[in-house]
Amino acid sequence: MNILVFAEKFTALNELCSGARQIGDRVEAVVIGPVEGQDITGADKIWAIPAQSGAMLEDYTETLAALLSKVEPDIMLVQPTKRCKLIAGRLAAMLGASVITDVMELSKNGDAKRMVYGGAAISTEKAATTTAIVMVGPGVLGGATQSNTSNNEAETFNFIEPKIKLIVIRKEQKPKVFVDLPNAKRVVGVGRGFVKAEDLEIAHQLAEVIGGEVGCSRPIAEGEKWMPKETYIGVSGLMLSPEVYFALGISGQVQHMVGINRSKVVIAINKDKNAPIFKQADYGIVGDLYKIVPALTSKLK
Ligand SMILES: Cc1cc2nc3c(=O)[nH]c(=O)nc-3n(C[C@H](O)[C@H](O)[C@H](O)COP(=O)(O)OP(=O)(O)OC[C@H]3O[C@@H](n4cnc5c(N)ncnc54)[C@H](O)[C@@H]3O)c2cc1C
Repeated sequence: MNILVFAEKFTALNELCSGARQIGDRVEAVVIGPVEGQDITGADKIWAIPAQSGAMLEDYTETLAALLSKVEPDIMLVQPTKRCKLIAGRLAAMLGASVITDVMELSKNGDAKRMVYGGAAISTEKAATTTAIVMVGPGVLGGATQSNTSNNEAETFNFIEPKIKLIVIRKEQKPKVFVDLPNAKRVVGVGRGFVKAEDLEIAHQLAEVIGGEVGCSRPIAEGEKWMPKETYIGVSGLMLSPEVYFALGISGQVQHMVGINRSKVVIAINKDKNAPIFKQADYGIVGDLYKIVPALTSKLK
């Protein structure tokens, strides 16, 4: 199986190439801009598209379509960012290719598993077209492995001017999120068991002691807005596979659990002994997180 990988970020490109290596016979990566000095893991070849001044990522769609027609991979693996999703849709329309989104498992024969009905069921899908455009989230195919950049063969693929261009009117800096949850070995997840934003400090102290990162359930990010959207875990957020996951005040709804069910050990703290999280946790403590977590942190210190 031949796989072409396209991602907005180099870290994601590396991760997807490493994952593609495990299921594909040949892996090629697409890079916009110079490839020198960039580490790309697991790719047999890099297609370098010269970066165009002022161009938006979507402006490369025609170029990517031409590259797809040339390479004819069985699968084009794409990072599921907003921009890449737009490109995937356009490529599908231009080339008549199938798109499979939110993939949580991809096998060597191209079968893709994805959650449907908000995580209540899993659908196994296979593209009916020669090339499948498959969108896989961070952590699904495993983290990036050691670089083999020196083995990458590189070829320039010329930019094709788009018929309709996007014009950037204004750019504003977003506050930076300094967490690397997909690659964290230990993650502390916070849920609605916390009463106010300042109380999350309890979770941060635990994370500091265990050398981990803090993530959250969707309502904490989307509803309360106490944490950035990039840090929520679950079917519509991040899929993680840490060694240890602490679920603090998280009920354990399926939409959250699918994001952590590849964790090696799940430790849940919840005051409700009937909370669904306890059915999937390896260790559970029934009690008030406001008492248990500080005591645990102090003991672990
Ligand atoms: C289409 C769809 C997609 C979704 N995607 C996601 C997703 O990607 N990720 C996600 O997380 N959710 C997602 N959700 C939402 C999901 O269904 C749940 O609503 C959400 O996960 C619940 O978050 P929670 O566990 O923090 O809150 P709750 O369900 O309200 O649970 C809070 C828990 O805290 C416990 N608690 C309260 N006080 C304390 C205390 N002092 N000490 C200890 N425990 C305490 C309670 O007993 C309770 O179990 C999605 C929903 C839909 C419909």
